[in-house]
Amino acid sequence: MGRTFALVAHDRMKPALADWAEENVEALAFHTLYCTGTTGSVLKERCPTLNITRLASGPLGGDQQIGALIVEERIDGVIFFIDPLSPMPHDVDIKALLRLTVVYDVPLALGRKTADLFVAAGLLG
Ligand code: PGA
Repeated sequence: MGRTFALVAHDRMKPALADWAEENVEALAFHTLYCTGTTGSVLKERCPTLNITRLASGPLGGDQQIGALIVEERIDGVIFFIDPLSPMPHDVDIKALLRLTVVYDVPLALGRKTADLFVAAGLLG
């Protein structure tokens, strides 16, 4: 069954998310994907066959757009490769997005190992 996932990565983590997406491209191909702007560009380039909708860039409101999709119960999981070592101008937006995943009990992966758990748990199956 096709599900809907949000995929986001902070700048230093974009190569890692692109690697993970490429490794899992066959599983991701069944699903609808929403990405913040720059993440979406990177993933589109690496995995052109994926069904990716690009939202605004994170610092320009993309995280809030994903939050709104969560509120509308249109997101089945969030894969957000966070950079814990860089200050972000849109830190409050990131916190708001993470908070909404908890409020709406949406599965959340914050890096490669938890993203792999999505696969192991059959969420992409
Ligand atoms: P970006 O946004 O994909 O546009 O870089 C990610 C973020 O920082 O939330």
